[in-house]
Amino acid sequence: MSLLDRTGATLREDVVSGRASAAEICGAFLERIANVNPTLGAFITIDPERALAAARAVDAARAAGAPLGPLAGVPVALKDNLCLRGMRTTASSKILDTFTPPYTATAVDRLEAAGAVILGKTNCDEFAMGSSTENSAYGPTRNPWALDRAPGGSSGGSAAAVASLCAPLALGSDTGGSIRQPGAFCGVVGLKPTYGRVSRYGLLAFASSLDQIGPFARTVADAATVLTVMAGPDPMDATSADAPRTDFSAALSGDISGVKIGVPRAFVAEGVDASVLSAFEVTLDTLRRLGATLVDIELPHAKYAIPVYYLVCTAEASSNLARYDGVRYGYRTPLGRSDTLKTMYNRTRDEGFGAEVKRRIMLGTYVLSAGYYDAYYLKAQQVRTLLRRDYEEAFERVDVVAMPTTPTPPFKLGEKVDDPLKMYLEDIFTVGANLAGIPGISLPCGFTADRLPIGVQLQARMFDEATMLRVADAYERATEWHKATPVVLPP
Ligand code: GLN
Repeated sequence: MSLLDRTGATLREDVVSGRASAAEICGAFLERIANVNPTLGAFITIDPERALAAARAVDAARAAGAPLGPLAGVPVALKDNLCLRGMRTTASSKILDTFTPPYTATAVDRLEAAGAVILGKTNCDEFAMGSSTENSAYGPTRNPWALDRAPGGSSGGSAAAVASLCAPLALGSDTGGSIRQPGAFCGVVGLKPTYGRVSRYGLLAFASSLDQIGPFARTVADAATVLTVMAGPDPMDATSADAPRTDFSAALSGDISGVKIGVPRAFVAEGVDASVLSAFEVTLDTLRRLGATLVDIELPHAKYAIPVYYLVCTAEASSNLARYDGVRYGYRTPLGRSDTLKTMYNRTRDEGFGAEVKRRIMLGTYVLSAGYYDAYYLKAQQVRTLLRRDYEEAFERVDVVAMPTTPTPPFKLGEKVDDPLKMYLEDIFTVGANLAGIPGISLPCGFTADRLPIGVQLQARMFDEATMLRVADAYERATEWHKATPVVLPP
């Protein structure tokens, strides 16, 4: 068996037991990336030297008999909106094309402290705005299952990297579905933690009340390990929660008898592709067979989730992106003698940002403007509260909520990119968890007739990732979907 299709847990065992060295493992993944990345476009930056040095340090620690961390020698790919000291970090934007951060995101720091080996930075939608990874200044990423299709987004590069065996693990960020949706499109596990569970320090901000960092993996157990390593309060992020540190791996008992799973039937009934619906029904049957009880629930305000999300996230984005002004860091337009400060700002932002980012800055500025604030932004915040209450009521009756991750299987590159509204509707099932602050996970749960991956989503109460992961892991143990790998890319 090759090293490439092993899980993070197995690779760590290989390192600990001496079956493989961290350097050998790192070399195998770097070679895989070199082979498939020209086709796939999953990585923007690859740093073989840095990766091999980190791997050798793990091997040296083992040789010296030092304790090895829970991710010792396990390669990880990072979405390119996560800062890593000394490595170019672009958020897939021309405005940050030459930006090299002087510090590392806390979540990434914790992975490295646990022995992880960072391979490089993955492609994404510019500033994480999108659902297809086509809004990137560096070109699109292709779906490893069908090269003419989108890998989902915005963390499409990270999802494609894990699906194509370029990395056993990757990090993404999820503001409205950007981990779960590409997870579903690429047939891998994607986890968005509770808001505040993982520090956002060093994540380039998109919408600060919604953003969370989370893992991609090929198994629930691997995702649980990464979450355990990353989670916990951080003095550098005032919104990181003071929740007790939990060993999420310990929750994976395999037993879900008596767990109550809520199904929002009315919400799921409309506008969902038949292949997705039938995979969802089969998934519910499997969960029932494993001992869970299915309960019908209502999320009456979920139908407003898309407009609420796109008002809140654009408002926050317009404020967060004001910092890119050509003065402090990043791209600056070439200046002529007669240029004023104002033309410098205008041209820098005009040339540095792509179309979707500009659209959102304009929308956000509009909804926050004095004349429209009450009608749009304030109203959106009020409906956000109602949606959160819908979930609170549901979680009085059930432990976990299940729904499809996406309304459609992976769509074609170019199919939706010129129609923002169509693209936004892809997020109907994912944005609710961000608006409510609750955790969500997408798991592989089937394929379409032409072998495109389909995902199912589980959500849970705030800070109850443990129950969500237990159900997800039990489902995974009972099914084979997560074992499939795409065949379009030569091994
Ligand atoms: N697709 C959503 C958007 O375009 C979600 C993005 C995200 O989660 N970063 O905003």
